[in-house]
Amino acid sequence: MSNPIIAWFRQDLRLHDNPALNAAAQTNQPILPVYILDDKNSEQWKMGAASRWWLHHSLQQLNLSLDNNLCLEAGDAKEVLQKLIDETKADSVYWNRCYEPWRIKRDSEIKKQLNSNGIEAKSFNGSLLYEPHTALKADGTPYKVFTPFYKKGCLAKPLQPNEPQAIPDNLNYFEHQSLSLEELDLMPEIPWYRDMEEAWQPGEQGAQKRLHIFLENGVNDYKVGRNFPAQENISRLSPHLHFGEISPNQVWCESKTYIDAENQEDIECFHSELGWREFSNNLLYYFPDIPRQNLQKKFDAFPWRNDQAALQCWQQGQTGYPIVDAGMRELWQTGYMHNRVRMIVGSFLVKNLLLHWHHGEDWFWDTLLDADLANNSASWQWIAGCGADAAPYFRIFNPVTQGQKFDKEGVYVRQYVPEISALPDKFIHNPWEAGEDILSEAGITLGKTYPEPIVDLKESRERALAAFKQLSN
Ligand code: FAD
Repeated sequence: MSNPIIAWFRQDLRLHDNPALNAAAQTNQPILPVYILDDKNSEQWKMGAASRWWLHHSLQQLNLSLDNNLCLEAGDAKEVLQKLIDETKADSVYWNRCYEPWRIKRDSEIKKQLNSNGIEAKSFNGSLLYEPHTALKADGTPYKVFTPFYKKGCLAKPLQPNEPQAIPDNLNYFEHQSLSLEELDLMPEIPWYRDMEEAWQPGEQGAQKRLHIFLENGVNDYKVGRNFPAQENISRLSPHLHFGEISPNQVWCESKTYIDAENQEDIECFHSELGWREFSNNLLYYFPDIPRQNLQKKFDAFPWRNDQAALQCWQQGQTGYPIVDAGMRELWQTGYMHNRVRMIVGSFLVKNLLLHWHHGEDWFWDTLLDADLANNSASWQWIAGCGADAAPYFRIFNPVTQGQKFDKEGVYVRQYVPEISALPDKFIHNPWEAGEDILSEAGITLGKTYPEPIVDLKESRERALAAFKQLSN
């Protein structure tokens, strides 16, 4: 029997359109599929609790697809790979590239070490449509503005790697002992994930199903409908894309086949959102400090407040602003929050509460199933106004008018803030204006059954604008 080849799965937990796996299959060597939980090198960006729940299930599914041959390991990937090579006499390691700074550093050390030991190390692009080094400006510098990045850096170039690849039909596995999934200890002790089990199907099959449900039912009207949190016009593919259970190539190419005269703009808009994912990855690659450092340095002097009580109200969905509370509770219950609502709760945190965007980034990191270093940090910087192509600081979302515009009948708010559901639509986003009679008829006592607003919108807006002005002086 020839030496095995290690197919190292990372953020590509799928068999379809997996360039590293395909290349490994083409060697005709027996394949040892490996996943390594590396909490050592990730340091501060160790996966959060919700992501771990997802990963547990995703690995379970991947193992099934690999006929129970997935070898699970934990520890420093550099040491683990060397141990596996010693144990199995594998002569090659293939993987798909990831773009978080800690992984880039670790992976280049691994490549060097393997090469110097005479082991073949090959990496592929399985996670992006346009890898960062291919999407640069003509002068070789990175883009900081989305539209030229997307139009010139991406759309003007051929899609990478190209059309999706099928599952190799000659997969021949090398058997090796593995930790049990339970030994990875990814599941929380307290079962707070019941609603998540209802809402999601982690793994490649779930991802394929989700894509097709969206393309059959949601994509028409995406351009407008994606703003309304009670509508099903979004794909909900983000955790699947983050864990690589589906490739962006497949999502892009397959959605393209659904284009007709009526939905062309919808699908182009959907593609441009995939473009934002590319843009975030590009930013993280060229500005690896963005998870912690303001991209615009003038924000280093911003007078953030320190208010633990307000932060806790925000985290728990107890701010007294129904759309903010609905979003934060949706996140807690389902591990997901609609994009429009992410923008509203984000603006509320950094502008109305004047709390540092790191607090939001950290909370999302722990609670989002799609927590993604590139998308999360770039989006928080965008919201705070300190990032690339950011929303201007003076654009402060008003949670009442946003609610009235995008959840007019309060369907979304009523789902997640049931204690105010008996209010008439007119007051569903502003219960404090309802008056005693209406509140009592709806069974609400503000301050008891539902909070009074924790800040005044007008005053907090002025405070934020003054803080920003101070910065520009
Ligand atoms: P769809 O609208 O169906 O879009 C399809 C895909 O495009 C998404 O799955 C996602 O991969 C990508 N995408 C869509 N919008 C964006 C965007 N604005 N930026 C980057 N990529 C995008 N997204 C994450 O995947 N992980 C995060 O940790 C994350 N944190 C965020 C934090 C804040 C404060 C904000 C405002 C946005 C954040 N986003 C994050 C971006 C966006 O909210 C989600 O990608 C989107 O809501 C996922 O839902 P969907 O899959 O239905 O999106």
